[in-house]
Amino acid sequence: MALIRDEALVIRSYKLGEADRIVLLFTKGHGKLRAIAKGSRKTKSRIGGRVEPLSHLNVQLWMGKDLHILSQAETIDSNFELRIDLPSIQRAMSILEIVDKLTHDDYPDPTLFDATIRAVRSLANNKSVMYVPAFFLRALQIEGFGPNLDTCRLCGTNDDIVAFDPRSAAVTCSQHPIGSEITPGALRAMRLVLQGQASRAFVVTKREDEFVMEGLVVSFCEAMIERKLKTISPVLRH
Ligand SMILES: [Zn+2]
Repeated sequence: MALIRDEALVIRSYKLGEADRIVLLFTKGHGKLRAIAKGSRKTKSRIGGRVEPLSHLNVQLWMGKDLHILSQAETIDSNFELRIDLPSIQRAMSILEIVDKLTHDDYPDPTLFDATIRAVRSLANNKSVMYVPAFFLRALQIEGFGPNLDTCRLCGTNDDIVAFDPRSAAVTCSQHPIGSEITPGALRAMRLVLQGQASRAFVVTKREDEFVMEGLVVSFCEAMIERKLKTISPVLRH
């Protein structure tokens, strides 16, 4: 078994037997992996309290063929602010859910890792609801699913864009309105996020446009991963 050190975000953990826990980690250098945290459910365990979902950790792991062992975990940030109220928990969990769906076991994805840590941290510091759809959009872009928000998919015009079709990952014009309605404010916000200017999008976007963007991005995410997200409120489904 090789010993490695890495940075990790806890996606979830579940009980194993009487005293242990299996932890699903998204690590920066080794991708997503499952590790056993031995004795972590005993009251004296130093690791136990640190392997909660959303915790950002420095970890030390024994890498086995089938099973990895978490031998040390030091907290970089527990992100406890996200566990205080239900809406925050739900938003943060939806970030973890999409990360889980977009990542593959043992396949490093440091760009997505850094974007995830930034999104979780930003959400903890400032609970703007836009961090979640902005992160979804950015995560899909990192994974190669960036949508075309510039020209109508059917005629190529960049004028009079009125709809976004999640399945074809593209916008359409008023002559070919396929998909769900997109407001000019939501379109601008989504473009800004894809251009790496999410913080500007947060400042200039109105609440009704944020709501449109959230709904469109959720539909887009679900179309790309070909399944429904469990952590998303039904009100955001178009
Ligand atoms: Zn058109």
